[in-house]
Amino acid sequence: MKINDFENGQKMKPISTAKEWKLLYFQHGRPGLEEGRTFKGLCMHCELQSLCNLPKPETGIWHCEHYRAEIMKKSNLYETVIKQLEKAQGVNNFDRDICKIMAKTQNELIVHFPVKMDDGHIKMLTGYRVQHNNVLGPFKGGLRFHPMVDIDEVRALATMMTWKSAIVNIPFGGAKGGIQIDPSEYSSKELEKISRRFTFALGNNIGPDYDIPAPDVNTNPQIMAWIQDTYLSTVAPNERNRCIHVVTGKPIESGGSVGREKATGQGVVFLIEKWAQDKGFNLECATYTVQGFGNVGSWTARLMKLNGSKLIAVEDVTGAIRNREGIDPDDLAQYVKEHGGVADYPKAHAIDHEAFFSTKADIFIPAALENSITEDTAEILNVKLVAEGANGPTDEKGDEVLRRNGIDIIPDILCNSGGVIVSYFEWLQNKRSESWELDEVDFKLKKIIVSAYEKVRDASEKYKVDWRTAAQIVAMYRLEMVYKERGIFP
Ligand code: NAD
Repeated sequence: MKINDFENGQKMKPISTAKEWKLLYFQHGRPGLEEGRTFKGLCMHCELQSLCNLPKPETGIWHCEHYRAEIMKKSNLYETVIKQLEKAQGVNNFDRDICKIMAKTQNELIVHFPVKMDDGHIKMLTGYRVQHNNVLGPFKGGLRFHPMVDIDEVRALATMMTWKSAIVNIPFGGAKGGIQIDPSEYSSKELEKISRRFTFALGNNIGPDYDIPAPDVNTNPQIMAWIQDTYLSTVAPNERNRCIHVVTGKPIESGGSVGREKATGQGVVFLIEKWAQDKGFNLECATYTVQGFGNVGSWTARLMKLNGSKLIAVEDVTGAIRNREGIDPDDLAQYVKEHGGVADYPKAHAIDHEAFFSTKADIFIPAALENSITEDTAEILNVKLVAEGANGPTDEKGDEVLRRNGIDIIPDILCNSGGVIVSYFEWLQNKRSESWELDEVDFKLKKIIVSAYEKVRDASEKYKVDWRTAAQIVAMYRLEMVYKERGIFP
């Protein structure tokens, strides 16, 4: 294993920093990350071996095979997504040929591109853009900067974007992209160069009426502004003002929409409110826990506070905290802005991964990465509702356990669709040279997302299926109809 193998985008990766070690520890759902434990320079496998007093492994080698073995054990999100499609097909007898089309991504682009680092050396990076389907409108989906980004993950997330746009009935298709990096290892100047070089490498594979990126994990309005500027610099001067909607989730001054930053969290909260109304459940004084305190997690938490609900535990990549008396989400958001994570937040105490998942609450909002609700973590979840702010947070077995334990689920492809809905509003405003007021954005978002919720609820009752399958049926119903109307060329 050479360092180059990793830089060339393979899944193998040496574990070299305490942060990476922690990340793996969390991602594989291993409880017991103790406060203050030091990183010993070993991979998780060897670390566990040494903890158990097994023969001490050699230090200083690349523990890539162990890492690979761990990754292989993880559920493949793309497989899960396709299985969900098959399940919906079985229930509603969707046309098999159309399901065959939907089970494949349309275009997959992998780009390797050089970036000059601050110290002058050149680093080769790998970026992805997968376009799943554009029968309903231009490809649409976020860009993720994360060390775990790979082609299968991007395929899965692109496919889910197609379902999402179809469920909420907006004229977009599905796409997703990302770069396999840990942005915290780069300066702001380097991140700007990475974003711009990636945009340049994508060239006209993205475009305002063809494929429109947006923020996702570890990307933000500033990165969208760099992408926008780079794209606009590569089109003819007389086209530039007609292309500002090449990305959404931009800063307001660069053509962004008010309400886009909070949109995904706002959508999650509108749906939790609707669920509570349907169930006759009082959200005032209800308790909730949140995994991931970035864009989606922090906004959901802050907006839930307006209902009088109480945040009692939070986990992010730096650790987990709990205060049963309540954590003020606005104060925590300010702390995370200053300190980079929830660890050591002074108004709560540190807990481990297992304690976080077993915290009794009314609502759990996963808003981090995929596959965090597994068979093991689902078994210890003690809540009434899981509102999936993240994409793919529940793996297949985790899903089974939640259903068996009678926990309601608002599934990701419905629950976090507020982001793409307000991205659509931003795109429309850019095309029409308009700027809407926040009230108008929120009013329209609520109308669309609640109507999608009702469709999913009705499908669940009609077909007597769980909400995840019902959401898939609603999406496939629309896609099948369009394919049947248009036929297959030639
Ligand atoms: P973000 O980068 O703003 O925040 C991610 C959060 O997850 C951070 O708090 C991070 O510390 C935490 N995290 C990462 N790894 C973790 C781990 N192993 N354990 C616990 N916490 C961990 O990203 P975001 O935009 O808030 O996206 C979060 C999720 O929501 C993703 O699944 C994303 O695809 C989905 N989503 C985002 C949007 C959007 O508009 N940003 C829209 C729809 C869906």
